[in-house]
Amino acid sequence: MEVRGRFAPSPSGRMHLGNLLAALLAWLDVRSQGGTMVLRIEDLDPQRCSLDKARQLVEDLQWLGLDWDEGGLEPEYCQSNRSRYYQQAFERLEALGLVYPCYCTRAERLAASAPHASDGAVVYTGRCAHLTQEQRQQLEAQGRRPAFRVRVPREKVTVTDGHMGPYTQQLDTQCGDFIVRRSDGVWAYQLAVVVDDALMGVNHVVRGSDLLSSSPAQAWLHRTLGYEPPRFYHLPLLVDAQGRRLSKRDRDLDMGVLRAKYTPQELVGWLGWLAGLQSMPKSATPRELISSFQWSKVPKKAVAVGST
Ligand code: GLU
Ligand code: ZN
Repeated sequence: MEVRGRFAPSPSGRMHLGNLLAALLAWLDVRSQGGTMVLRIEDLDPQRCSLDKARQLVEDLQWLGLDWDEGGLEPEYCQSNRSRYYQQAFERLEALGLVYPCYCTRAERLAASAPHASDGAVVYTGRCAHLTQEQRQQLEAQGRRPAFRVRVPREKVTVTDGHMGPYTQQLDTQCGDFIVRRSDGVWAYQLAVVVDDALMGVNHVVRGSDLLSSSPAQAWLHRTLGYEPPRFYHLPLLVDAQGRRLSKRDRDLDMGVLRAKYTPQELVGWLGWLAGLQSMPKSATPRELISSFQWSKVPKKAVAVGST
């Protein structure tokens, strides 16, 4: 089967070293197998995302030497233009009796959650799952606008990650009923990513391992909507010398700063070295790394990023 991969960044800020690693490896995974690369812009949140940031993101990827066969700034590949598909999926879930409104405020949500997930994320305990019609009306009368959650079954779901191996979650206790539409009407990432990967025919998903813990819920949602889940490949986290996860706060590793310091080949060479594809951080183009790309060379444990 032809590999269809994607890179799905959110234009909520400048890309970061971790995003670049995901972009490069998603690209290498596709290009090394003669597949098709899709660029999807995950601009669901109008408060945080903008077309200007999306343009910058596309320009940064091009600067790096990455290309794609479908998508980019084309409206059909920007999530902000795809509400109708999310609406259809939402209605399918409703028809299956799996959607319920959640009126919890942020504080209530946290109070009604148990820190079960392996990564310390809180798990919603279903506080609003059994509200009566009357209780719902009362809450609405108080002016509360609900978010919508999908009810997950008491099921164990195992995802066999193409890089990290099997990863299992008990959906009800380790994931919990998750939000598919926010109270302000914005579609949730979990729904949009599944719908889009399915409708865009994506069968390889390469991304950072911060999303590994979302993959069982996503695989379940794919099947519930009648789709075959993609194969997931999660990348090791990048950490600093103290072992702390790099975040957007590490401004010295955002694309603005990186571009001022390095040439594209230096940056790609460095990423290729972090990814285990080169024995030294020597300059390279993405194309030059294709022949050395193999998942077995990519580390599984967190990768420390030295000083830049
Ligand atoms: N848009 C997400 C992000 O930028 C990535 C989603 C995904 O790869 O599934 O973090
Ligand atoms: Zn609730």
